[in-house]
Amino acid sequence: MHPFESESGFAKALLLLLLHCTAVITTDAFCARSNQMLLPSKTSLTQMKLYVDNSEGEEQPHSVWYNRYKEYQSDTLDDYDFVLNDSELIESDPALNLLSSEIGVKEYFTKQIDLSHEENIPFSVLAERTFDTIEDIFQHLQRIPYENGSAKITPEEELTRKTVVVLGSGWGAHALMKVANCNKLRIIVVSPSNHFVFTPMLASAATGTVEYRSMTEAVRSANGMIEEYIEGKAVGVDIGKKRVTVRLNSLLDQYGETEPPEIELEYDHLVVAVGCKVDVKGVPGATNSLRLKSCDDARKLRTAIGECFEYASRPDVSGADREEERTRRSTFLIVGGGPTGVELAGELYDLAEDITRPHKGSYPRLRNNIKVVLCHSGSALVPQFEQPLQEEALKSLRRKGVEVILNTRVTELKDGYAKLSTKKFDKETGEKGRVESELPIGLSVWCAGTAPVSFVSQLLDQLPDVARNADGRIKVDKWLRPQMNDPSLLGSVLVLGDAAACMEDDDFLPQTAQVAGQQGAYLARLLSRGYDLETTPPALPCTPLSPCDIFYDPVLTEWLKLRGLDVASKFSFLNLGLLAYLGGGEALSQVQVGEFPLFAYSGSVAFVLWRSVYLVKQVATKNRILVTFDWIKNSVFGRDMTRF
Ligand SMILES: Cc1cc2nc3c(=O)[nH]c(=O)nc-3n(C[C@H](O)[C@H](O)[C@H](O)COP(=O)(O)OP(=O)(O)OC[C@H]3O[C@@H](n4cnc5c(N)ncnc54)[C@H](O)[C@@H]3O)c2cc1C
Repeated sequence: MHPFESESGFAKALLLLLLHCTAVITTDAFCARSNQMLLPSKTSLTQMKLYVDNSEGEEQPHSVWYNRYKEYQSDTLDDYDFVLNDSELIESDPALNLLSSEIGVKEYFTKQIDLSHEENIPFSVLAERTFDTIEDIFQHLQRIPYENGSAKITPEEELTRKTVVVLGSGWGAHALMKVANCNKLRIIVVSPSNHFVFTPMLASAATGTVEYRSMTEAVRSANGMIEEYIEGKAVGVDIGKKRVTVRLNSLLDQYGETEPPEIELEYDHLVVAVGCKVDVKGVPGATNSLRLKSCDDARKLRTAIGECFEYASRPDVSGADREEERTRRSTFLIVGGGPTGVELAGELYDLAEDITRPHKGSYPRLRNNIKVVLCHSGSALVPQFEQPLQEEALKSLRRKGVEVILNTRVTELKDGYAKLSTKKFDKETGEKGRVESELPIGLSVWCAGTAPVSFVSQLLDQLPDVARNADGRIKVDKWLRPQMNDPSLLGSVLVLGDAAACMEDDDFLPQTAQVAGQQGAYLARLLSRGYDLETTPPALPCTPLSPCDIFYDPVLTEWLKLRGLDVASKFSFLNLGLLAYLGGGEALSQVQVGEFPLFAYSGSVAFVLWRSVYLVKQVATKNRILVTFDWIKNSVFGRDMTRF
């Protein structure tokens, strides 16, 4: 593996910074150039607010980086405001349209970053991550001779290495595999899926924007020094005996292997990174709706979408009187207006635009039939984002024709329709109530809610009650250890990612790839450095608090002592922000360092940033190349609608 493929590699950060600067500079240049094209040259470059007169005669603000244009300046508005009475002009003019969607560009340039808030930038965490990255690079360099075949794990290492059984191959487990020192740790990975999947791109894969194999990496190639990968599922655990039971995947269907074998694995540390599952909240019929959690889900969804288009195009629904049925068959209901639901709506919009292109698309006759409906129980989409971006997400999707239904729950899913219940509030009487309705649909995708997987419940049965979080996840301390009934077993089980409930600043960390990835890399270092996880705080080997063992490495110890890491630092999450695709080359991006907000974009600049980040965050160079080719291929040839 290349050093630049480390989880927190410098190169990734630098590449991202470079791409981001390019995006901003390009957009600025484009804005300036567009202004010259659109407006007389007497203008001086300044920032203005663009107001659009809506049909009710109200002026709606449309922030934009724009040239000052005196003739249109209104007396009633600010000196820098610009009134455009005809919103159609914006929609019809690509340059103006692009500019008007860049709400963040203005904010970026006008925001006075108040450096008195410096204490909000987590400099200590940034410094720690930088030094960790240097350590990771040395780690990777040590791996190269082994991968070249010129070095081996010595017999002494073979005898003394600690066995770490890692459950899962998602974000948390994969980050751990990439960073762990396999000369000291005998890593055995157990997962029913033999690959890591870049979940933020599942919506793209389900709609054919990228191929599945472009955003996955096989466990066996993530780190050549991993001792073993076992394709199976953890189905039981004996914490006292440090043993986990694994049911192997049934691989030999054609030979009639009905009862797959079970094996037992012994461990020194059990790393639980089993994620979570989709929770349909007991809604009748919802178990039959499609979901988007794994590659297999994306593959099924892609096939089902193709089937819907074909079903809607059948000759038996070709008459004018069958228009309604054709529309029903090509109506896609997405349940849940979080980032996954919103991104899927955006991707489905792109797919519909692509396949209904006159002459070139595969289904031009379905142009007026395809409907994307996004149903959300809350009053705002993507509640994780800042409010202006939440509003922009709603506006952007509605502008594209996505039907967004807010304050609405799906109460039942039946063959061909969904039952909806919408909150209603009568302003005159102040009465609250619900309105029930039915929506004819062709296909539904459930993107709302998560629940723990069954192994987590089994594990919790052997842990003290305090380890059980209200939502069924496993509560862990700052070193990702759940409490144990027997204190001598503390640190033998470590939990991370979506399966863990980890507190930071009076709140639980969110269930995101960012958290899981950072926790995975953190745990890998904690284990590789040999901290004694039975003590609190965990201490380095060969200190007054902890005995000398194979983990004692004088150079590493001195380096860690120099950094003040005689005892392990607590896990701290470095929040770098949020991204979501909205379709049509627009996205939302909220960039921050910890709690310190840097900028918030929506529109095309955000889209460039979104693509740059997704490209840089791919886990291997191979994936970056494949994803780039997929994007180019689709923009040139359109999406591939073949089904197998
Ligand atoms: C469509 C989608 C889009 C997303 N987009 C974003 C985004 O843009 N940004 C972001 O930060 N987060 C995003 N997330 C959330 C993110 O993917 C999760 O928070 C992250 O995957 C959690 O990582 P994890 O390691 O805890 O679990 P996962 O990545 O879910 O991995 C769990 C692993 O455990 C395996 N497993 C399950 N049960 C067992 C068992 N009994 N034994 C052994 N192995 C088992 C599974 O096969 C899987 O390999 C998205 C999620 C989805 C579904």
